[in-house]
Amino acid sequence: MQAFQNLGINDNILEGLSALGFTKPTQVQEEVIPLMLEKPCDLVSLAQTGTGKTAAFGIPIIQLVNPQLKQTQALVLCPTRELCMQVAKDLESYGKYIKKLKVLSVYGGARIDQQMNSLRKGVQIVVATPGRLKDLLQRKAANLSKIQFVVFDEADEMLQMGFQDDLTSILENTPKNKNTLLFSATMPREIATISRKYMNNPVELTIGTKNAGAENVRHELYLVQTHNRYPALKRIVDNSPDIYSIVFCRTRRETGEVANKLIQDGYNADSLHGDLSQAQRDMVMRKFRNRHLQILVATDVAARGLDVNDLTHIINYNLPDDIASYTHRSGRTGRAGQAGISIAIIAPKERYRIKAIERKIQKKFKQCSIPSGTEICKKQMFNLMDEVTQVTVDHKQIEPLYAEIAEKLQHLDREELIKHFVSLQFNKFLEYYKNAPDLNVSATEQKRNDRNKKDPRQSLRPNQKLTTFRLDVGRRQGIMPQGIIRKINEIENVGRIKIGQIEILRNSARLEADSRYNAQILQAFRESEINGKTVSIEITQPIAPAGNSYKGRRKPSNHRKSRRPRKE
Ligand code: ADP
Ligand code: MG
Repeated sequence: MQAFQNLGINDNILEGLSALGFTKPTQVQEEVIPLMLEKPCDLVSLAQTGTGKTAAFGIPIIQLVNPQLKQTQALVLCPTRELCMQVAKDLESYGKYIKKLKVLSVYGGARIDQQMNSLRKGVQIVVATPGRLKDLLQRKAANLSKIQFVVFDEADEMLQMGFQDDLTSILENTPKNKNTLLFSATMPREIATISRKYMNNPVELTIGTKNAGAENVRHELYLVQTHNRYPALKRIVDNSPDIYSIVFCRTRRETGEVANKLIQDGYNADSLHGDLSQAQRDMVMRKFRNRHLQILVATDVAARGLDVNDLTHIINYNLPDDIASYTHRSGRTGRAGQAGISIAIIAPKERYRIKAIERKIQKKFKQCSIPSGTEICKKQMFNLMDEVTQVTVDHKQIEPLYAEIAEKLQHLDREELIKHFVSLQFNKFLEYYKNAPDLNVSATEQKRNDRNKKDPRQSLRPNQKLTTFRLDVGRRQGIMPQGIIRKINEIENVGRIKIGQIEILRNSARLEADSRYNAQILQAFRESEINGKTVSIEITQPIAPAGNSYKGRRKPSNHRKSRRPRKE
């Protein structure tokens, strides 16, 4: 393999690359960069996700635009705002040592006047979503008359999202003699049409097998009844203590539901979907990237093209409607040469869809069984033992306290001590998985009675203190548990705040949360408004431990006798 030095790249860009730790070009970079630098041409490049396409088009563009001119000379179109930001950030870092080079990303959901101002100041490279760019063109805020390069990044996805018309009208504003570069992981028929219609004898490059899933991704399937999807997800997660994963759902609603359940069950999770404001999305992404979140629950659109490295698992909570999306989803893991696992949780009636995916990715799924409670407890325990073995002991700090500690624990012999220590960490798992049913399909059928067991994981860590808060807004003011959970998750600069029960009444709501964060929680809600009404919050009596919560139960009305409890 070549080094970047041999591809004709300028020194200041090489410097930017080496600051990023890029030493060797990837295959698509090795092919595209010299080609474009020698004699720019139109190009259709098919390459799997994670193969380094951004630098493949980004480096030549940065080198070929003139930073002295304050005109837009290159345009990169991306399907989502996250991807826009990401690509712009990447281009900026490649061009970090080029004076006067300006890259700007423009996308919906952010203030258009600010974007117009930045455009007016002059930028050489614009990274845009088609919708917002069209808007800017209509307002005469963007000028594409000096464009030399147009790049369609994730072209298949843009088409799938219905941007075809926007793309056409954008291209009409660009000069004829530009070069058009199209990048895509898959090759649907529409791409061929575009390339015929808008491109000039494009060079076609295919890196790896067409439409194949990333090489180093293992595909696993878990067969469960539909109502067991969530418990199955939990077991998969519990069985991978170091999981760092995106869980894909089909709808925004499902995304919210799964994320809320995970949060309630004590996982570091949050959701990313189209209903969030720009600021909320940015925050969720930031938390995920710096690993304050282990699990991101997302829709396809929201997670598209996101470059988060080192994901251990992609989990298809539900299979996507189309097969191409499966390729994209699984391509989020196994990046930059690392191994990854793509998991599909499926119901028996969906098996045929797995066959279709297997044909497309030319790989077989391995059918795995949902781990049993005992297996999970063992796994967690061994993980803890590893952590215990590997932890760095600060002898100096501990020394002065040691005598006292030793004395306090004196009555426990080694064996007892180990048991106590393990119980402290493990009671929650041991208890949750005590009598846990087998979730695998055939066995489930025989054990149908087990499945309505209450989920004891909610009573995590008995020694963690919860405070009960009362809000003076409730169902009538449109407050929902999700809104409350989100508000608490938005509190920054603290770890994850454990949330207990949430009870929504007509005009008020109560919630339980980790007592260590009382001040932050009071402040977060005090500053907020719900549907135009300022919220007041106070600490109140604990919620009765009836196990009722959160579903917004109504008080039984007086004139109706309350129902007699049904016999179990
Ligand atoms: P794609 O667009 O093909 O899905 P990206 O351009 O987002 O892939 O790159 C995937 C990851 O690989 C990114 O984190 C990027 O920083 C990294 N990467 C790209 N090229 C190189 C390289 N030559 N050396 C090391 N890492 C690279
Ligand atoms: Mg990309």
